[in-house]
Amino acid sequence: MASSEPKFTPPLEYKILYSKRKTIELRFENANLLLIKAPKNTSPNRIADILLNKKDWIRKTQQKLSQRWPVPKMVTGEKILLLGEWRELEISPAGNKKISLSASGKIVISEDLAMQGAQALIPFYRQITRHWVHHFADLYSQKWQLTYKSIRVNGAKTRWGSCGARNTLNFSWRLAMTPLLSIEYVVAHELAHIKHHNHSPSFWQFLGQIMPHYKPGQAWLKENGNKLPQL
Ligand SMILES: [Zn+2]
Repeated sequence: MASSEPKFTPPLEYKILYSKRKTIELRFENANLLLIKAPKNTSPNRIADILLNKKDWIRKTQQKLSQRWPVPKMVTGEKILLLGEWRELEISPAGNKKISLSASGKIVISEDLAMQGAQALIPFYRQITRHWVHHFADLYSQKWQLTYKSIRVNGAKTRWGSCGARNTLNFSWRLAMTPLLSIEYVVAHELAHIKHHNHSPSFWQFLGQIMPHYKPGQAWLKENGNKLPQL
């Protein structure tokens, strides 16, 4: 993240949930709400102590969460992240449960589908991810004789992709929000694991050989990966 970016930390609300549990757990529901799960009969002083002890973690976590791009509203004019660019959303009155790209690059979604909220974007993101992942996997596996068993697109939140022991490849549909160069990087990275099932220097050297321009795609994910709207 650029240091010139404004940092705004919203006010924090607390909610204490008492239950039969034995330990106290702190969990952010969102950037503005911290849930405190506590055993019955925990004294307010004990909770205040914990909050004081954890204040650095609370501040850091809240800052991180408030940098996330918000989940888009399904209204005309809203900006939707697609392949690393913000595209305009248009709601069409058609009742055909369809979502598509217009010639001018807008994301057009039918009214009945838009009613489902931002979740309606997931099958669309999945389809785009599947298309580009197959495109790059074909390209790299043919050129470098890296044979994979299968490709699956899943909903992983913390991993862009993975390569199983038997060369089964998995990719998150969240990749559709990232630039093509980042998708290409993730695919090349997972295919490179077919030769090196680790992150040793030889792995990175091999990746640099098959995709010499991998760094910008990797850097985008490092900088923006944890800001993607959490659909
Ligand atoms: Zn890896």
